[in-house]
Amino acid sequence: MSRKVHAANRDAADKTTCGPGQLDRLLTEARQSMAGLREGASVPQQQTIRDFATSRAKAVKDIRARVPVRRRAGMPRMKRKRDALPTLNYTQRGFRLKDGRHLAGGVVLTVVWSRELPSLPSSVRVYRDSLGHWYASFVVVTETQPFPATGRALGVDWGVKETATTTSDAHDLPHPEHGKNAARKLGRCQRMMARRRPVHGQAASKGYRNARRQAAKLHKKVARQRQDTARKWAKSVVRDHDAVAVEDFRPKFLAKTTMARKAADAAIGATKTALIEMGRKHARDIRLVHPAHTTMDCASCGARTKHALPLSERTYTCTACGVVSPRDKNSACVMLVRAGLNPAGADRVRAGGPLVPGPT
Ligand SMILES: [Zn+2]
Repeated sequence: MSRKVHAANRDAADKTTCGPGQLDRLLTEARQSMAGLREGASVPQQQTIRDFATSRAKAVKDIRARVPVRRRAGMPRMKRKRDALPTLNYTQRGFRLKDGRHLAGGVVLTVVWSRELPSLPSSVRVYRDSLGHWYASFVVVTETQPFPATGRALGVDWGVKETATTTSDAHDLPHPEHGKNAARKLGRCQRMMARRRPVHGQAASKGYRNARRQAAKLHKKVARQRQDTARKWAKSVVRDHDAVAVEDFRPKFLAKTTMARKAADAAIGATKTALIEMGRKHARDIRLVHPAHTTMDCASCGARTKHALPLSERTYTCTACGVVSPRDKNSACVMLVRAGLNPAGADRVRAGGPLVPGPT
């Protein structure tokens, strides 16, 4: 990099913010002095710098607003080049779709389309996954596809044994155990990797790279299975209910995290995301509920027990009104109440009497 660019960088670094115009000028200068940069298209480079600037601005804002460190948007994590997976973001002026088959932007790619684009894309992200496969993901405007109203509401509680326990027995989601089935194979790959781990400073052997690739493949397979299960479940939930109250789950990184717990957390995360996306697609009311005390409150009278129930205790007995119900079902019902939805629209309560006209 030339001295001139260094000087310009220092000027920019002195300030906390740096406008997009200034960043573009810096990039133009850098491209003039560095042949390697000139070889690539400028649009994705520009986008990388702008994304970095946005994340920096967010970090500075969070520090000023005294956001707790754990919640702060931070600096991007620095990665070694060989560990980083490439991503290129092209805005509208950086690519062209020709004959519906080619993605042009300095490089011409032949794309295998997974589906028709519903509208002209405003941007595209080209990226490589851990298996070395390349993907292009387009940003398009979509229209919501509303489902007919059902007059029913659902409460959802996440858990380890059952991924989702709901107020409707038909919509409970048992733990699919995709991770458990792959764990044995994964263990073998990881032992192979451990045996062939490269000495510091030396290139990894072919055996090591093969083992790593196999492990990555297994991870990918489990992630896809999880997503498939999650989407199918989300679709049925969204089709049968107008409103869904969901525990706003955040993974619990406990000190004693086991493989089973991690797998459950991953499954819950994927399922929650699928539900939110499916709800948006079909114009349903998805409400996130803060998870605090959901296991301690009584769904029918609202009283709170003094102590959290031990995990081994599977039934909830209310000391105030005497209601006895399965622990997770009670929590699912609490979600409904907390979200301000009428529990009468839920199956379990409705079973007592015809409060709401039932769906056919
Ligand atoms: Zn009660």
